[in-house]
This record gives sequence, C-alpha cells and structure tokens, in this order.
Amino acid sequence: MEQNLTTERSGSPASIEAEAKSPTRKKVFVKTYGCQMNVYDSQRMADALAQDGYGLTDAIEDADLVLLNTCHIREKAAEKVYSELGRIRVLKEERARQGRETMIGVAGCVAQAEGQEILRRAPVVDLVIGPQTYHRLPSVVRRARAGEKIVETEYAIEDKFEHLPAPERKAVRSRGVTAFLTVQEGCDKFCTFCVVPYTRGAEVSRPVSQVVAEAERLAEAGVREVTLLGQNVNAWHGEGPDGSEWGLGRLLFRLAEIPGLDRLRYTTSHPRDMDDELIAAHRDLDKLMPYLHLPVQAGSDRILKAMNRRHTAADYMRLIERIRAARPDIAMSGDFIVGFPGETDEDFEDTMRIVRDVNYAQAFSFKYSPRPGTPGAEMDNQVPEEVKDERLQRLQALLAEQQRAFAQSLVGREIDLLLEKPGRIDGQLVGRSPWLQPVIVDERAGRIGDIIRVRITRAGSHSLFCQPVDWKADLTEAAKGGSV
Ligand code: SAM
Ligand code: SF4
Repeated sequence: MEQNLTTERSGSPASIEAEAKSPTRKKVFVKTYGCQMNVYDSQRMADALAQDGYGLTDAIEDADLVLLNTCHIREKAAEKVYSELGRIRVLKEERARQGRETMIGVAGCVAQAEGQEILRRAPVVDLVIGPQTYHRLPSVVRRARAGEKIVETEYAIEDKFEHLPAPERKAVRSRGVTAFLTVQEGCDKFCTFCVVPYTRGAEVSRPVSQVVAEAERLAEAGVREVTLLGQNVNAWHGEGPDGSEWGLGRLLFRLAEIPGLDRLRYTTSHPRDMDDELIAAHRDLDKLMPYLHLPVQAGSDRILKAMNRRHTAADYMRLIERIRAARPDIAMSGDFIVGFPGETDEDFEDTMRIVRDVNYAQAFSFKYSPRPGTPGAEMDNQVPEEVKDERLQRLQALLAEQQRAFAQSLVGREIDLLLEKPGRIDGQLVGRSPWLQPVIVDERAGRIGDIIRVRITRAGSHSLFCQPVDWKADLTEAAKGGSV
C-alpha cells in the first residue's frame, strides 16, 4: 500500500483536520492507523457523524467521542491500539471528574478481527464497529450513549456505500485537492500471510454509477487528483451503463472524461489482475499517472507458491515488460515480505535479484508477521527474528539506493506539478510529481490546485526541489534547506 501500512495519522485524519469546528457541536476525534483505505473510511465516518451533529476536533481532550480506526495487518499495529486505549482510559477518567462524558469506539480491522475481545481487554471501550457497518455508526453511538456496550461486526446485508451520506461540498474542499475513492473492498485471493480476506471479507466492487457520481462530486468541489482504492483494486469489476461487465481499465477511461479531474491513480494491485485494458489505459490516458504499485512480495517461486500468490517471478517480470512497453516512463513501486516461513538464504537472494531486475522507484518492505487464523501462522518452519532483521536491513538498503537514484535521475527534467499544500517552511508550497514524490516550490509559483510546469533542480533526502520553467534565473529556487 502507498503510505506505509504502519503509518499512524494522529489527530483527526490529516486531510480532514481543517473542517469547520463549531463550539456548540459535539466533538469527535478520529485517529487513523494503517492504509489509505482507512483514511477514506475515517472521512466517511466523519461524514456520517456530521449528520448527527458531530464536528471534528484534533484535540483528543476536547472530544465527546474518540474513534480509533485500526489496522490489523501486522501484530504491532494491533498492540499499538491496546496501548493507546490505556492512555485514553486516563483521559476518560479525567473528563468524567469534570462531569464530561466521553465515548470510546474502536473501528477498522482490529475491531473486525477481535470483536468482543476488545471489550474484555479494554473495558473502557463503549463500542466496537467493523468496516462493513460504518453506515450504522450514528445509531450505534446513540445506543452506546444510552449505556449499551456494542459490538457491531456482522457483515451487513445492505450496501454500506448506498447508506453512507455523501460528504458536504465544504468538507470535500477542506480535505484538499487530492482525494481517495474506495471502489473495491475485501479480497478473495487468500495469500497465506494475509488477514484481509478475514477482516474485510469477500471481494465487493462498487457499481460504475456510484463511483462516477462520487468522482464527479469530488471534481465539482475542486479535487484535481483522485486515487481509486481497493485491497485488490484491479480486481474491481462492475456493470457499466451499457449492461456489459467493466474492468478497472474501462472505469479509468470513463473517469478520465470528467472535467476538472486531471490526475488518476489506483492502488493496490495484484499482478494476476493486470489485464490488457488496464495496460492500455496506461498507454492511452495522459491523466493516468505513470506510477504503479504492484506488489510481488518475494522473488523465489518456492516462497511465492507457499504464499499462494498464484504467479511466479518470471510471470511478474513478463508483466512488467508489457507495462513498460505500453508506458515507458512508468515508475514501479511494490511490497516485500522477508522471512516468510521456510525462506532460505537462497530464497532471499531471489528477492534481492528481482528488486535489482525491476529497479523500483519506491517500495515498502516488512518482516513477516504471523497473523492468527492465517495458514502462514500455522507453518512450522518460522524464520528466527534476527534473520528477518538482517534480511530486511539488506533489502531496505537496496530499495533506498534505487529510490535515491530514481529521484536523482529527475534532476534537470521538466515535469508537471500539482500544488497541494503549504510547505513546512514559510514561502514554500508542496506539490506531487507524477511519481508521487513531494516537490517543494516557491509559493509565488502558483496557487494550491494549480498544475504547473517546473524543472527539478535538486533531489533532497525526502523531497525534490524545483523552479517553474517560465521563471527567470534571478527568481531563485525556494528555500534550499528544508524538506517536507
Ligand atoms: N492486495 C495487495 C497485494 O496483494 O499485493 C496487498 C495488500 S496488503 C493489505 C498490504 C501489504 O502488507 C502486503 O502487500 C504485504 O506486503 C504486507 N503484509 C500483509 N500481511 C503481512 C504479514 N502477515 N506480515 C508482513 N507483511 C504483511
Ligand atoms: Fe492480502 Fe493477498 Fe488479498 Fe493482497 S491479494 S489483500 S496480500 S490476500
């Protein structure tokens, strides 16, 4: 997933922090763990609660309702939630002494996986709600406020997206010029290391009409870049207006017609679901950014088989060749797991080899974390922690070197830059390159939401620096020192 899965977003989700906060409304504080799908879910929960009179706060001590939107992909993520609940208990007691009520809710994949167990381990929690029932959140909160302890983790029969309210225009605007849009949830692949099929359930795709309507609303409110999300986004399929079955490629062609929407992305994809139409979309659609997150996980066929990935290393390499033939400037991103049960030194060398062969612009890499209930956790040839550590270090060093080299290769090149937000240093704006890198520019270069032509002047450790191509040399590049 884009943004490291271990990422925590403190306060209300970063993109919704700026929403209107009225002193008279009840306040909700949302902390989001994990991937972009959780960021999107947090926004939709905030939209649902807004209808019930809740405004967002980024000060947890002011919150009448604290929601933790959790991630269960690796062990540490769940343990972090329990320690956070310990801290929140102290806060709840302190507010109770002041005569103020505080409801505590746990949402997301830990809620789905652990259910009742959360109430047992953390009695401070008032409600537990799984990802498939967010549309019921307002009524769940009302019942919890009446004194009921609630665990709502059944998969809903109704389509939650049909019942979740659309965000208000002002809420969309406050979230910025880029937006996430979940088009697909759940997964039927059952990789042997992964909890997603158990926490998010079977693969479900949203219909074309729903996705197009949501994208149009976003564009109309000023969003210029949309990232389509799904645990397995390129498995998305839906009935088009002509009655035929559409795949993700066709959907992207349709979304590219929406006026004002200038950039499209999607994540995360499975190699088995990259079909010809999707590759053609990369060839034909200028709006589809030349960046693809396509996890391979490992380079050894033996390990890929044990992972139930349903592709070999050679299949993956052939696929990348086809994608690069269609879109030569495409930058590749991926996910890797080291230390899957049974991984030998030779297997790990195969992973290092595939990384060298692909040459990634960016990637995420993790130590294998046995997840209860998955086949991998039952395998008896688990790899010792210190071996995983050593392999991860070597892999990350190689990936970091490739990422640096890719950034460096852009110096001197002209690119289009979407200006997204103010930089950390006064006088700067931060934008995104087509390859998702943060790029810093002098604020006089344009306004947030503009797409401007710039020349990359320097590659820093975490960001690129640039100058608009039409500037004269005496307008120097923005603050040389900082990075985002
Ligand atoms: N659907 C995507 C795919 O098939 O590549 C991946 C989605 S998964 C939610 C995100 C990433 O988390 C995976 O690509 C994998 O690298 C990592 N991951 C999942 N389960 C893991 C585990 N048990 N231990 C370590 N990393 C894990
Ligand atoms: Fe998990 Fe595999 Fe599904 Fe990706 S494809 S979400 S790794 S089970």
